[in-house]
Amino acid sequence: MVFDPAVETARYIDSLGPEALAKAAAYTSATHWMLLWGLIVSAAVTLIVVRLGLLERISAKLDKRGWALRTFLVCVAFFLISALISLPWGIYQEWGFEKSYGRTGQPLSDFLAQDAIGIAMSSILGGLFFLGVYALIRRTGRKWWLWSGGLAAFAAAATILLAPILIEPIFNEYKPVPEGPVRTALLKMADEAKIPHDRVLMFDGSRQSNNFTANVSGVFGSARIAISDVAMKQASLDEVKAVTGHEIGHYVLGHVWRIVFVIAALAMIGFFLADRLFERAAALFGSKAQVGDPEGLPILLFVVSVIAVLAQPALNGITRLGESEADAYSLRTVNLPDALAGALVKTAEYRYPRPSAFEEIAFYSHPSVERRVWRAMEWKAAQMKKAEPH
Ligand SMILES: [Zn+2]
Repeated sequence: MVFDPAVETARYIDSLGPEALAKAAAYTSATHWMLLWGLIVSAAVTLIVVRLGLLERISAKLDKRGWALRTFLVCVAFFLISALISLPWGIYQEWGFEKSYGRTGQPLSDFLAQDAIGIAMSSILGGLFFLGVYALIRRTGRKWWLWSGGLAAFAAAATILLAPILIEPIFNEYKPVPEGPVRTALLKMADEAKIPHDRVLMFDGSRQSNNFTANVSGVFGSARIAISDVAMKQASLDEVKAVTGHEIGHYVLGHVWRIVFVIAALAMIGFFLADRLFERAAALFGSKAQVGDPEGLPILLFVVSVIAVLAQPALNGITRLGESEADAYSLRTVNLPDALAGALVKTAEYRYPRPSAFEEIAFYSHPSVERRVWRAMEWKAAQMKKAEPH
C-alpha cells in the first residue's frame, strides 16, 4: 500500500471525533473574540480612571516626593486600579472560561491567590518599566520611542533570563524528573543541547491547566527543560521525546533572541505610533495629559494595546515560522513523526486543527495542527522512500 501523507493527516485529525472537533472550534474562536472584548474592557477602564481623575489625585498627594518616586507610584497605582476594575473580566477570561471547557481543575481560591501575586508583581515591574519610559521621554524628547524600544528589548531579555529563577517557582513547584525511561531520554537530549542534568525538571502544570506541555526557558546559566506533569501522565515515552525535541529546537536555534529582537522592533513601531496618536486619543477620553505625563499612562497603554492587537498577524507570522523550524528540528534529530503527530493532536482541543486560511494568518501563533501533522507525515514519507531498497 502506498503511504499518502494527506490521508494519514486526515486520519489523525479525524481520530478526535466530530464532537471534540466542534468543541475545539468553539473554544478557539471564543479566544479570538476575547482580543476584542479585552480592548473594550481596557477602553472602559481608561475612561473610568481618566474621568474620575484618579491618577491626578494620587499625583497631587505625592506632590512633595521626587519626580522618580511619584512617577513610579502613579504607574503602579494605575496597574493596580486597572486590575481591580477589570477583575471580573480577568476571572472570567483566565479561569471561568477555561473551567467551562473543562480545561482547568484549579479551585477559584487558588486561582485568586495566584492572580493576586501575579498582579502585584506585574504592577511593580510595569511601574519600573514605565518609570524608564517617562525618564526617556524627559531626556530624549521626540526620539523617546526609539529608546523605549531598546528598553523593551532589555526588559524582555532580563525577563527571559530571570523568569526560570525568580518568577516561575512562585507559581509552580519544579522538581527533578523521577528516575525512569523518561528521565533517561530527557537527559540524553539535554546533553545534546548542553543543558546540565540538574536543570531537567518536572513541574505541577496540572495545578493551572490540563494543557499537555513541555518547555525550555531561560538562557545561559538559567536555561532549563521543564515538562508538565500533565505530559508525564498522558503521553507515551516517544511523544515526550518528540515534544522535547521540538522545545530543544527552539533553544538550540536561538529563538528567544529572535523574539527579543522582534519585541524591540514592534515596541519601537508601537511607541512611535502611540506618540503620534496620543493627543487625539487623550481628547477622545477627555484627558488633558501630554504623552510625557505619567497621569496619561492609561491613554498611552490603551493606544499601545490597540496597536498590539492590530500587529498580531505580523507577530503570529514570525512565531509560526519558529514553530515550523522547531518541528523540523524534532523530526531531524528525534525522528519520531508519528509520536510528534500524536502529541500535536492532543493540543488540538485548544487550537482548532482545521482553521480557515484567514484565521490561521490572523490569530494562530502556531501553524494549525493539521498543517504540522501533514509536515510530519511528509517527513515520514520521505524517510520511507530513503529506506526502500534500490
Ligand atoms: Zn514551540
